[in-house]
Amino acid sequence: MLESVLVANRGEIALRVIRACRELGIRSVAVYSDADRSAPHVLAADEAYRIGPAPAGESYLRVEGLLEVARRSGAEGVHPGYGFLAERASFADAVVDAGLKFVGPRGWTIQAMGNKTDARHRMMEAGVPVVPGTATPLADAHEAVERAREIGFPVLLKAAAGGGGKGMRVVQAEEEVERAFEGAVREASQAFGDGAVYVEKFLTRPRHVEIQLLGDEHGNIVHLGERECSIQRRHQKLIEEAPSPAMDPELREAMGTAAVQAAQAVDYVGAGTVEFLLDGRDFFFLEMNTRIQVEHPVTELVTGIDLVKWQLRVAGGEALDFAQEDIAFRGHAIECRITSEDPARGFLPATGRIRDVTLPAGPGVRWDGGIVPGLEVGLHYDPLLGKLIAYGPDRAAAIETMRRALDELRIEGVVTCIPFHRRTMEDSDFRAGTFSIQYLEQRPNLLEGELSQEARKAAAVAGALLENERREAFHPRVKEGFRTGTPLSQWQRTAWPWTNGS
Ligand code: ADP
Repeated sequence: MLESVLVANRGEIALRVIRACRELGIRSVAVYSDADRSAPHVLAADEAYRIGPAPAGESYLRVEGLLEVARRSGAEGVHPGYGFLAERASFADAVVDAGLKFVGPRGWTIQAMGNKTDARHRMMEAGVPVVPGTATPLADAHEAVERAREIGFPVLLKAAAGGGGKGMRVVQAEEEVERAFEGAVREASQAFGDGAVYVEKFLTRPRHVEIQLLGDEHGNIVHLGERECSIQRRHQKLIEEAPSPAMDPELREAMGTAAVQAAQAVDYVGAGTVEFLLDGRDFFFLEMNTRIQVEHPVTELVTGIDLVKWQLRVAGGEALDFAQEDIAFRGHAIECRITSEDPARGFLPATGRIRDVTLPAGPGVRWDGGIVPGLEVGLHYDPLLGKLIAYGPDRAAAIETMRRALDELRIEGVVTCIPFHRRTMEDSDFRAGTFSIQYLEQRPNLLEGELSQEARKAAAVAGALLENERREAFHPRVKEGFRTGTPLSQWQRTAWPWTNGS
């Protein structure tokens, strides 16, 4: 077992790793930028070191600075979390070269899966079904047109170095290919410093279903079932759940086996995820994420397996102490990503200082967050404030728990996407589980009317307050009852949410 681990990340995932360290008796070392001086992960860790100013390029992404902290603190291992350096092969190699353990797969595995065209090629060789399309970058717009014609429209142009939905273009017809190709190349060059673009079939109504994997250094690889991640905006996930409403044991077995095959092809060690598009009962490899994912808690809740603890154990050389047949699924879990984004404005990132936070609790509720009152939410880092996770014996129960928990959750001082989640939990298609990755595009009603709905609620409460005031003038006892029964501050909180920006 590792004795000490440097957590090369921030926010909720840093806190999540620190908690796992604490339970395993591992000394945790946090790092922070100037913007995070009093962030929760800094206070939670056993030790914390400043690594630079707020911009990530000068702090969380500076490999030398991180390795220097590892040396100074005497950390034995480095956990990269997700984002930042988590999928940079050169970072994994640098950690190992410095004589430390990298909590994740080997550098060459990250490299092999990091480039989408290389990964597609490798998966085809391993017999894993991939989305029909090219396995090499397109030479020019002319080739793009030819390949697109062969595949059949609509097609999707994608950046080989892609991530975060950048450099992607859906193309409906031949005359649009050239412009879309140039746009995709430009965006990919800007975002990744690599303009390589390839083309694949655009599936119109698939689901995004992914398989969680765990591997150890002794050659064991198991899958922990699937996560349904079709509720997305701009190709980025917002709500995830386990199991998928589209799943049955036979399909799970087939997808799980394909995912294990994919992992075996790259000698996978640690926690990883193979993402698929599921179209009817056909599934296609999309990519592999060689790290822990934001949505890992739903898998933990339905399997009872702590993925982050296993990441740490595996990095310390331990073998998995369970086999595929030992993994059982129980109940249903749903995660809502709580971001500082405004659904009414196309999920535009919002900024502000967190004034107050009321966290939900009670049966079936888990909060993985990294916010406290006073924390400044800026544009330096991604907008994820935390994750609200609900668990129940079945999907309907998990939805009810999520609804209740979303009502309890209040974040004041910055606009959040909480109202969007509330409405989604009410939506009949979401509740029926009959949705695809097009879900949000087909439901503008989930994004609009933010203010008007809140305003209606506020008007009703304001009216009630006024009515009470009027009655007080005539019936002093009503006044007393009102004061003791419903504290005014509570009423104000529910009544005028926009005064605190949420
Ligand atoms: P990134 O790495 O940029 O996030 P992914 O390949 O993981 O890109 O795809 C992100 C999302 O984009 C998927 O979850 C899915 O919603 C959509 N997508 C990707 N490829 C296709 C495709 N061939 N057809 C339809 N949708 C796709």
